[in-house]
Amino acid sequence: MTLDAEFETLSLDTERPFTIARGTTRTVEYPLVRISDGDGNEGIGGAAPTRHYGETAATAAAVLPDLLDAVETIGDPHALDRIERRLGEVVRRNPAARGAVSVALHDLAAKRAGLPLYRLWGLDPDRAPETCYTIGLDDVDAMAEHAREAVDRGFSTLKVKLGTDRDREIVRTVRSAAPDAALRVDANEAWSRADAVRMAEFLADFGVELLEQPVPADEPEALRRVYESAALPVAADESCVRLPDVPAVADRADVIVIKLSKCASLREARRMAHAARAEGLDVMLGCMVEAQPSIAAMAHLAPLAEYVDLDGSLLLADDPFEGVGMPGGEIDLAAVDRPGTGVRER
Ligand SMILES: [Mg+2]
Repeated sequence: MTLDAEFETLSLDTERPFTIARGTTRTVEYPLVRISDGDGNEGIGGAAPTRHYGETAATAAAVLPDLLDAVETIGDPHALDRIERRLGEVVRRNPAARGAVSVALHDLAAKRAGLPLYRLWGLDPDRAPETCYTIGLDDVDAMAEHAREAVDRGFSTLKVKLGTDRDREIVRTVRSAAPDAALRVDANEAWSRADAVRMAEFLADFGVELLEQPVPADEPEALRRVYESAALPVAADESCVRLPDVPAVADRADVIVIKLSKCASLREARRMAHAARAEGLDVMLGCMVEAQPSIAAMAHLAPLAEYVDLDGSLLLADDPFEGVGMPGGEIDLAAVDRPGTGVRER
């Protein structure tokens, strides 16, 4: 069999400027990979390069020709472990570039098997939690209005970005705008240990269900202190990038956040979910602002997670792809009636 692999970089606008503690995103440069098998099947993959993890669309584009050469050389779309190992030898970094190839190969392998990806993996679609919807940083009234809109669209869980000097005001205002929503917050490393311990108490009083990455990833002791004193579950995102990080955060967090843009492959994402289980950790599947090819692929893993934050495509002005729909947050895998990830051009 011969495989033919190519890529392009798409430029995708966000629906509104998306701001977190580290900065604002207005446009996402998204590498898109297509791999075809000569039998009329094409796998589509993508992933969001993230500067925080040392990757940009330009560095992804620089390594993708070598990655795709390796795919064509091995030439077997079902040799997923072998190709993944080879990709890791060709490029040690660039998790999004390798992740995009991983998604395209899994989409292709599942299409060749004639099964949706979650069925190929034997996962139970009834176990997929709903996705939350993220409220980015803005002025407080705009965040409250955005929260109200999300609740009106049917989302029952909101993730509120924090990491400002007005975090308490944001939580109070969003809470009163969405009194019945489940709230999670994400400080994206912005707090000191002392601030985080105090904020955890405040957040628990407001019924917040989860505190994500309160302190910098390079301060593991601070994370442990927050985890030990907090009255609500703590999730490790920036502190948990790849598989070896899972046991390392087991005594510092309740939940790990798995993202394709960090861990470089769907297979590694699955290994991390199983390792978390072994360590007594819960799993959140997360994303960057990104399009359906990667969002849908991760959504097929949702039955392995307790928490899902896969709203990346919903934050785009126009996703050129459809895949796994999430009306009101519900991830309805059983409704994916196409083989592969279900992704196709709109
Ligand atoms: Mg996060």
